[in-house]
Amino acid sequence: MAKITKDKLDNVKKKTTQKIRSRTMKFSKGRIIAFVICAIIIGLSFLFTTQLENYINFSINKINITDEVGADDLKIHYIDVGQGDCTFIELPDGKNMIIDTGSRSSATELANYISKVILTDDKTIDYMILTHSDEDHIGGSVTIFDRFDVLNVYRPNIYSKSETAPDDATIHSSDIYDKAISSMYKETNHILYNEAGIIIDGEDYNLMFYGPLDENYDDVNDYSPILIFTYKEKTFMFTGDASSSVEEDFVNNYTAIPEIDVLKTGHHGSKTSTSDELLSATSPDFAVISCGEDNKYGHPNEETLTRLNNVGATILRTDLNGSILFFVNDNGEIGYQIDTYVPNTYYIKWWYVATTLGVIVIFICFFSKKIKIKK
Ligand SMILES: [Zn+2]
Repeated sequence: MAKITKDKLDNVKKKTTQKIRSRTMKFSKGRIIAFVICAIIIGLSFLFTTQLENYINFSINKINITDEVGADDLKIHYIDVGQGDCTFIELPDGKNMIIDTGSRSSATELANYISKVILTDDKTIDYMILTHSDEDHIGGSVTIFDRFDVLNVYRPNIYSKSETAPDDATIHSSDIYDKAISSMYKETNHILYNEAGIIIDGEDYNLMFYGPLDENYDDVNDYSPILIFTYKEKTFMFTGDASSSVEEDFVNNYTAIPEIDVLKTGHHGSKTSTSDELLSATSPDFAVISCGEDNKYGHPNEETLTRLNNVGATILRTDLNGSILFFVNDNGEIGYQIDTYVPNTYYIKWWYVATTLGVIVIFICFFSKKIKIKK
C-alpha cells in the first residue's frame, strides 16, 4: 500500500486552499451591472405573480367546463374537498363568495381550484361565510387567507381558546379553529357574527341568513346558519351541518319559505339532517351532497337518500361526481355540470422560484470564475 508522504499531504492542502480562494467573491463594474439588471427583472416578475404561479402550477390540470356556461352567468361551485364542505359562488356583478373552506388536507387543492377555475386574474374574495367551527369546514381557511385577499368574513358565534369569551359562550378549543380565527383577524377588520336577518345583496341577487335563531346551542353543528341565495327566482339553500331540530325551528319560524331549486343537504347527507319537515317545506329539485369517497362516517346515510328520492330530488354527490357546477343564465335558466376539475395536489409559490433564481444570479455574477486545479 502506498504511503502518503508529508510532501504529498502538503500539496493536497495547498490545492484545497487554492480551490477555496478561487471561490471567493469577485467584484467588477460588469458583474455589478449584470447583477443589478437581473435583480430588477426578478423584482419586476412579482408584478405577474398570479399569472406566473398559474402557469407553473396548472399546466397539467384539466378543467371540464363547457361553453354552455356563459361568462356572465351566476356560477355556484360545489367543490370536491373530500370529507368536508365548500361552496364558491361567482356572482353576476363580478363579486364572489365562499361558504366554508373544507379541511386542512384539501386546502391546497381547494386554493388551486379557486386560482385556476375562478380567480384567474385576481386574488380577491369578497365574502367568506364560515358556518361553524369544525375542521372540515374551517380547516382550509388559513390557506385561503394566505393565498387570497378576503374582504369580509361572517363567522360563527363560537369562540376559539385564545379569544376572550363571554361567560355563557361556546368555546371550541381545537388548535386549527384557534389558527383560523387568528388568521381571520389578521386578514380583515370586516368580521360579523352569523345571525338571522343578515342580507348580502347586489344586482339581482341576495343571500338571506335565516339563522342562527338562538344565541347558543349545545352542539357546534347547530350554529350553522340556514342560508338561501336567490338569483332570477332560482334558489339555492345551504344549511352547513345544522341538525333536524334547527331545520324544524326554521320551518316553524318563517311563514314564507320559498321553494328551493338546489339544496345542499345538511351535514354531508347524515341521517340527523335533511328532515322530512325541511323537505316538505322546500321541495328541492336538486340535492347536492358534499362528502368524501368511502368516508368513515358512512355519509350519505341511506335514510337521507330515501327521503330525498321521496320528494323527487335529483341527487348529486361530490364523492361520485367530483366538483359540481350549477349555473343560471340571464334568462333565469338553470343547468349543471359535473367533474368540472381534476386537481393536482402541489402548489409552487412564485417567491420560491424567485429566491432560487436570485441565489443562482448571485453565484453566476460574483463567483463564476473557473476553478483552476494544477496538475
Ligand atoms: Zn361537517
